[in-house]
Amino acid sequence: MNSKIFDFEETRLQKEILKRRAKRVLIQLPEGLKTRGSHIAVAAEKAGATAIISADPCYGACDLALSDAELLGADLIIHYGHSETTLQSRVPTVCLEAKAKVDVYAATKAALPLLEGWKKIGLVTTVQHIHTISKIKKLLRKSEKAVVIGKGGGLTKYVGQVIGCDYSAAKSISNRVESFLFFGGGRFHAIGVSLATAKPTIVADPFEKRAYSINKDFQKVLKQRWASIHDASKSKKFGILIGLKSGQNRFNQAFEMKKKLEKNKKRVTLLSIKEITPEVIMQFPDLEAFVNTACPRISIDNASKFVKPILTINEVPVMLGELKWDNLCKGGWF
Ligand code: SF4
Repeated sequence: MNSKIFDFEETRLQKEILKRRAKRVLIQLPEGLKTRGSHIAVAAEKAGATAIISADPCYGACDLALSDAELLGADLIIHYGHSETTLQSRVPTVCLEAKAKVDVYAATKAALPLLEGWKKIGLVTTVQHIHTISKIKKLLRKSEKAVVIGKGGGLTKYVGQVIGCDYSAAKSISNRVESFLFFGGGRFHAIGVSLATAKPTIVADPFEKRAYSINKDFQKVLKQRWASIHDASKSKKFGILIGLKSGQNRFNQAFEMKKKLEKNKKRVTLLSIKEITPEVIMQFPDLEAFVNTACPRISIDNASKFVKPILTINEVPVMLGELKWDNLCKGGWF
């Protein structure tokens, strides 16, 4: 099923292994694509390498399994589903983007009535659909929309590309557009676009061949974030979560945050962590609130699963009264 929808580039996988004369390959697949793991392993082994599929969760290109590869003696990491970033990798790594092989027409057409009130549309998508962005742009322009596509930076590679915590492609054009069209599956990235820009965002989902507004979900997230900040402001004992994933290391920010909170008479415990889950957080019942210096989407998207508030780094100034809530909303979460 997945192989019909996503391009696993098996020929390139084999070429990369042969070109690098890799003997042992660690293969990372995001959740949802792991079902192809054993098939990919067979393809890799045909190129003469021993293949090991990483069964651990992998949510982004920030999550290269560098230490695992070193421990396993792998001489190559094949990382599926995300584009290369500027993050340094000390183990040779090839990113295979798993481009989607889906038609753009039905979802884009479904989005048009929802975009009716707006003339200037910002267009963003994920790496899975980036190769179709000009086609979507053409379809929108046929309906007399002025389409703007922004250049990203940071963790993204392509013009118009967004990832879970990097919306620079949307932010760079936000003041030139009235709304955004996010082309891709699910609500996750579209909520991110709204959180980053505070602009109305429509999803055109090519997998479901339908379109919808993300506004209700966005409002729900805002309410939830406000409630978390409010709850955390009443707390005295904080845990600061220091992420250990290779591209999520914000050690200095974590140490600065500790100083900042202590200055504000909070007691702080530093916690190093790989997977931030409710179960892990429950192991520290004396801590009343947490600041997450790792992946900000865990705080935002999984909030209802945690019994304690887990703030993102940029929510802390609001909690301490140094930044107005409205200014956080205007400036965006990313
Ligand atoms: S930090 Fe989180 S949102 Fe950002 S790339 Fe990594 S997993 Fe995705």
